[in-house]
Amino acid sequence: MVLVADNIAVPTPPSAAKQSLAGFGREQLERSLARIGVPERQLRMRVGQLWSWIYVRGVTSFDQMTDVSKDLRSRLEAGASLVRPEIVSEQVSVDGTRKWLLRLAKRGHEARAPEIETVYIPEADRGTLCISSQVGCTLTCSFCHTGTQRLVRNLEAEDIVAQILLARDRIGDWPGATPPGDGRFLPATERKITNVVLMGMGEPLYNFENVRAAMDVAADGEGLSISKRRITLSTSGVVPEIPRWGAEAGTMLAISLHATRDELRNELVPINRKYPIAELMQACRDYPGLSNAKRITFEYVMLKGVNDSLADAKALVQLLRGIPAKINLIPFNTWPGVRYECSEWEQIERFAEIVNRAGYASPVRTPRGRDILAACGQLRSESIRLKASIGRLIIVPLAFLISATAALLVLFSLGTERVTQAVHSRNLTDGDPVFAAFDLFREGIILVSGLTILPALAIVILGEVARIRSSLYYVFGGGAALAAIPLLARLNQVADLNMPASSVWQVFATAGFVGGFVYWMLAGRRA
Ligand code: SF4
Repeated sequence: MVLVADNIAVPTPPSAAKQSLAGFGREQLERSLARIGVPERQLRMRVGQLWSWIYVRGVTSFDQMTDVSKDLRSRLEAGASLVRPEIVSEQVSVDGTRKWLLRLAKRGHEARAPEIETVYIPEADRGTLCISSQVGCTLTCSFCHTGTQRLVRNLEAEDIVAQILLARDRIGDWPGATPPGDGRFLPATERKITNVVLMGMGEPLYNFENVRAAMDVAADGEGLSISKRRITLSTSGVVPEIPRWGAEAGTMLAISLHATRDELRNELVPINRKYPIAELMQACRDYPGLSNAKRITFEYVMLKGVNDSLADAKALVQLLRGIPAKINLIPFNTWPGVRYECSEWEQIERFAEIVNRAGYASPVRTPRGRDILAACGQLRSESIRLKASIGRLIIVPLAFLISATAALLVLFSLGTERVTQAVHSRNLTDGDPVFAAFDLFREGIILVSGLTILPALAIVILGEVARIRSSLYYVFGGGAALAAIPLLARLNQVADLNMPASSVWQVFATAGFVGGFVYWMLAGRRA
């Protein structure tokens, strides 16, 4: 059973007027305090007080800061807050995994507040929080649900830290807090969030500065105190930033590998075209501080018939030879519309045995939170899913209309006389040239829209079912309309256009192509 709680009662949603200090680094706090008139000589001490209240005790209101003067508290209250992102929905899986859909505060130009997902995965001896670094993602890893969502923006450092604060609120992970009353599984550890992984939405190395600043806050020994050895940044392979991250942030590293050949990795993780496997492996070998105690985790999603052969297992072991590594085999977590399937369990076991024999212990990651689409690669905000569906409802007729107009133009270019004849044969015009022109256009649109629906619809449906994002598909899809000439000839009679079939198929081809292309431009690329 999945527990779902929508629009949970939490402290007031972020207000545009009051900036939340929850998630701020020391320098940001210092600036905020200076702005409300705290003398410079007191700044360090005041920041230390706020730091402890926000990150050690997890308070959500300035009133709770009992060692801060009343006057300062009221000045803080007047211009700032400690609210967390708004919880749009909270889902709890049967296995205790929790997923939050969070709405962030809107920034200046944004038409609507962006949303992200954060996932908590409890185990007996640890609790891992999987956080997002971007809203959407620019990369389009073909097995990843997040990759189907356009990048909206990078998260600010405070948005990243706020995910940790909010998760600690919800699972009662502050001193003296009570755990949630749903009775779901929590680790037996003192701290319920022991590890943080940057494996949620987005490519963290494309938001380097903010992620580094956020991890500095998370690892601060006087605050959240999450050791950098318990923080793992997962990258799809932004090679130039890997050494920099190692030198400047020094957390653990995970690589979304998923294939051992460039040809296949280009398809699964398209950034591989820019930074191929050999360059990625070199960056891993050179990762600062790499040792048997600080290994790189290589994630390998198990896709049936794609990358799960025993030859692939041997190639994987071979590829990682000499790198202090852990291997994480991830049974593929399916999502609506994806073209991959999870490998058979026996095949995963055979694959794992080869990896095991090569000295990598327990390589298979138990799938968690599948029932709430919280598992690896499944994150994508619900509202975006909904918006995509609504968007498609609008875009499909729009694509038809534009394709119909394009086809009408072809009709005109073939000779208005034929169209005019067709219109006159239906007795639609009566003398007045203005009405005649209007009727001509109207009738043309109706006829051509009728004609365009079939090819354009066929192209769009096929593209949707197969999740094809290539423009080539839509170009050739339009061309494929040519193959329907016999059908078109029959429709030609039905539509009573009195045109030779050779002219009608030009209209069809144009309509199919333009309709498909418009759809691809507006929705098909990343829908
Ligand atoms: S796997 Fe990571 S980098 Fe690739 S599309 Fe998904 S979120 Fe983006």
